[in-house]
Amino acid sequence: MISMRVIEINARTAIGNSKMKELDYTYNPYLGCSHGCLYCYAMDFSPEDASSNWGNVVYVRKNIIEVLKKQIKRLKIGTVGVSSITDPYMPIEAKYRLTRSGIEILARNNFYVTIQTKSPLITRDIDLFSKYKHRIDAGLTITTLKNDISRLLEPMAPRPDARVSALIKLSKAIKTWIYIGPIIEDVNDDLNDIENIINIASQTNSRIIYDHFEGYKYNLNYMSSIKYKSFNISWWNDISKKIEIIAYKYNVTANSESVEWLYELNNQGRLF
Ligand code: SF4
Repeated sequence: MISMRVIEINARTAIGNSKMKELDYTYNPYLGCSHGCLYCYAMDFSPEDASSNWGNVVYVRKNIIEVLKKQIKRLKIGTVGVSSITDPYMPIEAKYRLTRSGIEILARNNFYVTIQTKSPLITRDIDLFSKYKHRIDAGLTITTLKNDISRLLEPMAPRPDARVSALIKLSKAIKTWIYIGPIIEDVNDDLNDIENIINIASQTNSRIIYDHFEGYKYNLNYMSSIKYKSFNISWWNDISKKIEIIAYKYNVTANSESVEWLYELNNQGRLF
């Protein structure tokens, strides 16, 4: 087993402008991700040694809190995604606490924070989220409830059942959502599995965002180690329709990633 390399660096900026239409900014306290998901697009936006040893090299932007305190004074208030190219609650967050401190500063300064993770470590911060419950929401990524498929795709991420438990706890404190993605044909597109995830969304009053796999230079390389079919639009149209029908049955809001920004901007009253 390869041991993980942690490299501390200094950040020049704490918050970046987001390319996603529903977000104004992104906050990434770490680069690289120890969860090592094969499909992760972030490897194409990470330092080279992290990308080519995906899951085994993590950069810690150790001065990010000092930089954030200065940068925030110059920023227009908006919505911040935590995080876009790393998992903000991977295990080293237990030591560095850069995610927690960053969220606290953002929420205290009236920024809206939307968090996405696969880790139950997020429940450590429920006290903080409860304090700013109108300015924070959180999503758990659940690509499948089947442990063997999760191990294949997300070898070092927390097990799906641990994510479900975390979601249940979070949903009692703040607005929550489930990200089902990426959905990959003949890998994790079993409709019974997807229905079980939607049922959990219904029980936790969470909404669903779902998406398909998108290939970039590095993640295509990692994905070649498993058998998967390249993207097929007819399959996607068909599976999307079925997901929406199941979601309707459970009275759960489900949006594909391609229209998610419309839903979010409308919700934030910023669409028109
Ligand atoms: S947890 Fe998220 S950021 Fe980390 S490797 Fe998996 S998909 Fe990428």
